[in-house]
Amino acid sequence: MSQEHDEMDECVQALARVHAFLHEELVEADADAIRIHLHACERCMENFEIESTITEMIVRSQPVEQAPTTLAARIQTMRITRR
Ligand SMILES: [Zn+2]
Repeated sequence: MSQEHDEMDECVQALARVHAFLHEELVEADADAIRIHLHACERCMENFEIESTITEMIVRSQPVEQAPTTLAARIQTMRITRR
């Protein structure tokens, strides 16, 4: 019975840290503990895959903060040639 409880605890802890893990906010030892748990625990691996897909989508949808220099330079050139 107590073993079952430990397992549950590991899952709760792993899932609580999944977001920090995905954003690489964990120290290497904690990240390793989660990786090991995910490989051993099918349920958490499933949850992790869902979370990582969502995180990836959010990262991809974020706008680029600055226009690349080449694009900015091209716009400058366009302005000049228009005159
Ligand atoms: Zn688990």
